[in-house]
Amino acid sequence: MIQLSHLDRTYKAGHSELFVLRNINLTIELGEFVTIMGPSGAGKSTLLNVLAMLDDQWRGEFLFEDAAVHTMNRKQRAELARRRIGMVFQSYHLLEDLTVAENIDLPLSYKDMHRAERQALVADTLDRFSIVGKKDLYPSQLSGGQQQLVGIARAVIHKPALLVADEPTGNLHSAQAAEIMDLFKQLNREGTTVIQVTHSDLNATYGSRTLELRDGWLTRDTAHPDLQRSQ
Ligand code: ADP
Ligand code: ADP
Repeated sequence: MIQLSHLDRTYKAGHSELFVLRNINLTIELGEFVTIMGPSGAGKSTLLNVLAMLDDQWRGEFLFEDAAVHTMNRKQRAELARRRIGMVFQSYHLLEDLTVAENIDLPLSYKDMHRAERQALVADTLDRFSIVGKKDLYPSQLSGGQQQLVGIARAVIHKPALLVADEPTGNLHSAQAAEIMDLFKQLNREGTTVIQVTHSDLNATYGSRTLELRDGWLTRDTAHPDLQRSQ
């Protein structure tokens, strides 16, 4: 599904270049659940932003579903990302002046959908994520765990092939975190490829493969199918 070859990402620091990602070579297959770990400043968020196509200041090759992302312009990349990728953030990134229902409807505004079909999909999604009772509330009226449920509902309502999450449970209590991870596992079972950045060893057990970044280098790539949870 994803292939990165010789990918570098640098920042300018005066006249020199600071490497944040160095010579990343990585293949991720359709249906994988991948965890990215490593110390703060290692480049995890940067790699995630590259994969989510939010960052385009890199060099190297990036194939996504056989399409050459490195040859696309900004508009083509944004269009591809909107159609195929959902993103979840540590601090939820919900729009505070929109209701829950309006927040999760947002990704559908890019789609050519009939009004009734769109309303039905929003209703189904509210139901699936058990947030029907919250649909007319604003994000500030919800707990962190509930806000993240809305964040995930919004990220997957258009049925993306890839779900990318940066510290999705970083602001949550462990019970809420487990609920979110169970949801990721379920989406993954249904065919969504999942890539998460986390500091949590527990979160990592939900995935089937853990990558480690250090100082911009990919230093470990461990498959652990035996840890795959059965729930
Ligand atoms: P992590 O997610 O592993 O904590 P990041 O990807 O956020 O790491 O950052 C990796 C490195 O890149 C850090 O040293 C950070 O300070 C640097 N960095 C990130 N964004 C920028 C930026 N916009 N300008 C300069 N340096 C940056
Ligand atoms: P995280 O918890 O995801 O590592 P950070 O606080 O490191 O978050 O970074 C938050 C944002 O600030 C990111 O978008 C990152 O790219 C940017 N950033 C990080 N380090 C720097 C830096 N040295 N200079 C400019 N921007 C930075």
